[in-house]
Amino acid sequence: MTSQDLASVILQQLAERGLAPDPDNYRMLYEELVAGKKESNSSSAKWSEVLPQFIAQWERCQLGLSHLQKLQQRQQALQAGNPTQILHALQGLAMRWAALPDRPMENSSQEPAIASTTLSSIWHRGLAAGFQVGLAGDKLAQEGMQRIEELLQAKEPNTELLIQELRKLWVQMDHRDEKVHEIQDYYQKTLLLLTSSARELFEKEPWLGQELEALRQFFDEANPAQAQMGYENLKDLLCRQEQRLGAVQEADQALQELLRLVFEYLASLDEGNCGQDYQELFRLSEQIQQAEDMQQVQSLARELLERSQALQDKLHQSHDALRKARLHLENAQRRLQSLEQEICQLHLLVHEDPLTKTLNRRGLLLAFERESARANRQSQALAIALLDLDHFKKVNDRYGHEAGDQVLQQVSLFLQQGLRNTDIIARYGGEEFVILMPATTAQKAVEVLQRVLRQLLEAPLQIGKHQIPTSFSAGVAAYEPGNTLENTLTLADRALYAAKRAGRQRVFLSTPKER
Ligand code: GH3
Ligand code: MG
Ligand code: MG
Repeated sequence: MTSQDLASVILQQLAERGLAPDPDNYRMLYEELVAGKKESNSSSAKWSEVLPQFIAQWERCQLGLSHLQKLQQRQQALQAGNPTQILHALQGLAMRWAALPDRPMENSSQEPAIASTTLSSIWHRGLAAGFQVGLAGDKLAQEGMQRIEELLQAKEPNTELLIQELRKLWVQMDHRDEKVHEIQDYYQKTLLLLTSSARELFEKEPWLGQELEALRQFFDEANPAQAQMGYENLKDLLCRQEQRLGAVQEADQALQELLRLVFEYLASLDEGNCGQDYQELFRLSEQIQQAEDMQQVQSLARELLERSQALQDKLHQSHDALRKARLHLENAQRRLQSLEQEICQLHLLVHEDPLTKTLNRRGLLLAFERESARANRQSQALAIALLDLDHFKKVNDRYGHEAGDQVLQQVSLFLQQGLRNTDIIARYGGEEFVILMPATTAQKAVEVLQRVLRQLLEAPLQIGKHQIPTSFSAGVAAYEPGNTLENTLTLADRALYAAKRAGRQRVFLSTPKER
């Protein structure tokens, strides 16, 4: 290589590498070239030859060599040290890659196909189902999901686009959540507004104002079971009000009918009308007195009888209709009265035990009516349990009545937390609780309560500075269609008594023998 050749190669390298034409760079390239020349004597490798070979192999698809592996090997080669070593490393790679056969066409799609199957199954098994639920009815989101489906159909899915589309879906989901929350927020505000001014709004229907105000207290507690109870009770109440409205209309119709009949009767007694009838009778009786022969008397008497009979019938008919109408009105009024009494007892707050905030007996009865009707309708089981705290008198004696009250409150909370949201807890008496367990067999209810009892035994209640060990005994009975709350509770009570006798701290199932 002449010095002129050398200079032109150095200048070319400087330009290719984007280096400044200064003495240091000249020296570095000179040394590289000289070193390269020395080393390349044996292999006589040149950049101008190696690079095209390398590029050709880079663009080929070799069997058993993934794109990722090629990238890693190239990276390694580029870190080989000086340019000559890099050149050799690249040449080595090109030769090794060249020795590998071409990847067949069907195989060439194998790798992306595996990736796409994985992506596609991730999409279908995981994300698509979630987005379908979260974004149901959202047209834009459905289009986005369609685009993702199409991207996944491609041999080599464009992952960048896929990520973009997925990101858009997340954003849409977020917005939707925000919208739903916003609407719920307004629902809540509207309800609060309505309930807080209920008394003024429903001046003519004071019961409704009171009920709405009571309803707000149910929601104030931020307790789903409590909110559900408020909702169910209002539903009951509105249903009864609807019946009452029907009864009012019926009574109103009966009264109108009665009035119409009274007026008709009065009209029939109207002076002109009646007077005419009476005048006719009077005339006939006079004619009879003046009659000259029996035949004439007989015919006049017949006429008199017929006419008086007709008049009597007319009066009798009116009387009869009046009597019936009055009876009808009285019945309607009685029905209205009993419904009104029932509604008076239906105040929402009267359903709650003030100490434990569970249902009281009245609330329990209503809940039982609702749940037993549901159990009948849906042919579902309904278990009823009666719980009694063990040796509760001793708690009062030892720690005082107030501590006893707190134990009752904590036990109620404990039960609420340990049972399902749909289970209904009521305080039946002093330290007795009833639990209605919808869609639960009595056997299952025993297991559930045994678990709750175990948990209670493991964690003595902390009342002030005292730790008070607390337990209960319980009897469980299955509700049978046609049975009342009372007779189902009798069965549960017998099982409870057996549990107490057996040593307390246990849950017994009502057995046929006890029935
Ligand atoms: P057992 O295991 O047989 O059920 O024993 P016990 O002591 O629990 O049963 P007993 O029926 O003899 O006593 C129940 C006690 O519960 C008596 C009463 O003072 C107490 N009690 C009832 N209602 C309340 C209440 O509202 N607050 C408090 N602190 N105690 C109550
Ligand atoms: Mg008791
Ligand atoms: Mg007791």
